[in-house]
Amino acid sequence: MSDTTFSPVAVPAPIPVGQILPWAIFAGLLALLAIYFVGAEEGATSLIRGMYVHEFVHDGRHLLGFPCH
Ligand SMILES: [Zn+2]
Repeated sequence: MSDTTFSPVAVPAPIPVGQILPWAIFAGLLALLAIYFVGAEEGATSLIRGMYVHEFVHDGRHLLGFPCH
């Protein structure tokens, strides 16, 4: 008999923080941009004239509970 047993334990490879940090910052900026367009792109805080962006994200705005109308 063999003493070898199968142990399917996968050890995840560590990812250095220096490799994750730029992607984390990029994802954070995209998230902030999305939150701005969904939550605050209206009226006095509007960067883009007209209601195009507001109407485009209107359903998401209501879905996430931002005040609208
Ligand atoms: Zn609305």
